[in-house]
Amino acid sequence: SKPIIAVVGRPNVGKSTLFNKIIGQRLSIVEDTPGVTRDRIYAEFEWRSKSCMLVDTGGIEPFSNDVILSQMRRQAQLAIDSADVIIFVTDIRSGVTATDADVANMLLKSGKPIVLCVNKCDNVGSPPADIYEFYNLGLGDPIPVSSVHGHGTGDLLDAVFEHL
Ligand code: GDP
Ligand code: MG
Repeated sequence: SKPIIAVVGRPNVGKSTLFNKIIGQRLSIVEDTPGVTRDRIYAEFEWRSKSCMLVDTGGIEPFSNDVILSQMRRQAQLAIDSADVIIFVTDIRSGVTATDADVANMLLKSGKPIVLCVNKCDNVGSPPADIYEFYNLGLGDPIPVSSVHGHGTGDLLDAVFEHL
């Protein structure tokens, strides 16, 4: 069966934008309001002649008691459990947040391979200096990506496929 790649991270970092860019069409809803993708959305895509399933998730707020946020967390956990590789999406504009660190710990507990995406690196050329902060998450090399422009998505997928 096809390998499953889950897109995970806190709300509003650009998971659905990345998902849509990778699959090459607009399937997942992108919103400025955090947490719009409540359910998991699946799509099949091909990278270097290999067929895979990509799963978008609504976002994780690890310690929220809010009903919707805990439902989103449960959906994300199901996606994590079924994934072969996880793309953990963060945001260069906000830097590493406390929630990012909490999600990283949650992902590390899964024992699944994790690829660290630092999204919203919109300026082409060298990645911004603040990207080094993301090494503190303990997830290896941060990969700069601009999901709106598509920059870095190839490097990201290559890193994912090293685990497949
Ligand atoms: P999600 O909640 O993680 O799924 O985030 P969305 O994909 O819905 O995006 C949240 C907001 O971030 C939207 O306004 C997107 O247009 C914006 N966004 C996503 N990716 C990028 C990016 O690479 N660069 C910039 N500048 N904005 C982005
Ligand atoms: Mg979304």
